[in-house]
Amino acid sequence: MTLVHTPGTEAGLLAPTAPGPSPAFRTAPEDPPMTDAATVFVATCDLAGQVRGRAVPSSDQGSALRSGTGWVPADLAISAFGPIADNVFGSRGDLRLVPDPATGVDIPADGDAPALRLYLADQTLPDGDPWPCCPRTFLRDAVEELRERTGIEVVAAIEHEFVLGGLPVSQPFSLQRFRQAEPFGSDLVRLLEQAGLQPENWLPEYGDGQFEITLRPGPALAAADRAVLLKELVRDLARRRGLPVSFAPLLAPDGVGNGVHLHLSLRDAEGRPVLFDPARPGRLSALGARFSAGILRHTPALTAWTAPSPVSFLRLTPHRWSAGGIFLAERNRESLLRICPTTQLAGGDPAAQFNLEYRAADATANPWLALGVLLRAGLEGLVRDYDEPTVWPEDTDASVLDGVPALPSSLEEALHALESDDVVRSWFDPQLLATHLSVKRSELAQLAGLDETARIRKVADVY
Ligand code: GLU
Ligand code: MG
Repeated sequence: MTLVHTPGTEAGLLAPTAPGPSPAFRTAPEDPPMTDAATVFVATCDLAGQVRGRAVPSSDQGSALRSGTGWVPADLAISAFGPIADNVFGSRGDLRLVPDPATGVDIPADGDAPALRLYLADQTLPDGDPWPCCPRTFLRDAVEELRERTGIEVVAAIEHEFVLGGLPVSQPFSLQRFRQAEPFGSDLVRLLEQAGLQPENWLPEYGDGQFEITLRPGPALAAADRAVLLKELVRDLARRRGLPVSFAPLLAPDGVGNGVHLHLSLRDAEGRPVLFDPARPGRLSALGARFSAGILRHTPALTAWTAPSPVSFLRLTPHRWSAGGIFLAERNRESLLRICPTTQLAGGDPAAQFNLEYRAADATANPWLALGVLLRAGLEGLVRDYDEPTVWPEDTDASVLDGVPALPSSLEEALHALESDDVVRSWFDPQLLATHLSVKRSELAQLAGLDETARIRKVADVY
């Protein structure tokens, strides 16, 4: 059976649910989990997509879970390359980094590298109230508001591409490259499984030394948490194996890009999929079309969050299979929003598999913010009842798609689009918005005067 949407709701929205429990943090367990590690690292992910935090002795794990560790508001203004950007916080103020027990992962001891327990944290005010600039809280609030206003639950999966350096030349997608990356690949898959990240595919990709890892879908916050953790686990293992690794959007001007693709499906309160309608263009439900319209309408501003490095827009050009323009299409890897395929093998249910893929993201983004802005934009499409967008069929001639609206051609343009989009601006605490603009402009200024190759190199050194 396929479910389209609850009949009788004029705008095609699902019945709103009663307001759920307040989005308070999960209660810390009475007894913190056992760990062999001497230290427990409590981390956040910032506007540069960097994971920063501090460690406590593991004997203090219980207290860290209950009351967090110290943190500083101005840390949010640290640019990707190190220097701190101009910011409204200055030297004043204090925060707590309060770990979410659900995010805990163990990195086992390995040779000389000691074990580590790692948690992702919410940034709170000293009294425990949410900090309005916390990126993780931004996503949690977006999920909550979508649920309260429409009854929709989000299921998401985030795919990452990256390049391993130092491997011999090999064929795209080849078993040869897969084996060259051993034992890293097998160790990575095992580590991700043990850490509960639910790896799905580990594959040699198209570009030189390029690989991709996909994780199983899960609730939005968990999917974004896993994206933060995945990159750190990959980097940590590669470091231990002496393999240079980069998630940077590009490693050479004419090279193959490393994308981050965000997959979204929407469910009603009973868990029934609501994006699928086999009678409509692209099999996309009316609700799904309006959700997509929200993303398409606000794309230029969204990219300031989803592809926010000084070189991200070199990847987002046509004929790279990244995102060649602002359009929604069935099974087309040039689209911004791709309607993904389904399979009926082994009795698979198309409605349950049906999902939309947002392709204009990369690993320089903060996953909580990237996913959060997509959900906010989709919600605007639903509640403001945006016009349904064109769904380009799979057999659309490529020449037709040359005429679709272009993505911003640079980070400067994306930041300008963000400043000009009152709807998108309204989603953010003014201090968070101002800090993001300042950090991103500082990163642009730090690379000013460098040619394309040198800018790509600087970004690759960090990601
Ligand atoms: N490497 C492409 C990108 O930059 C994606 C290729 C694919 O479809 O997997 O997004
Ligand atoms: Mg890929």
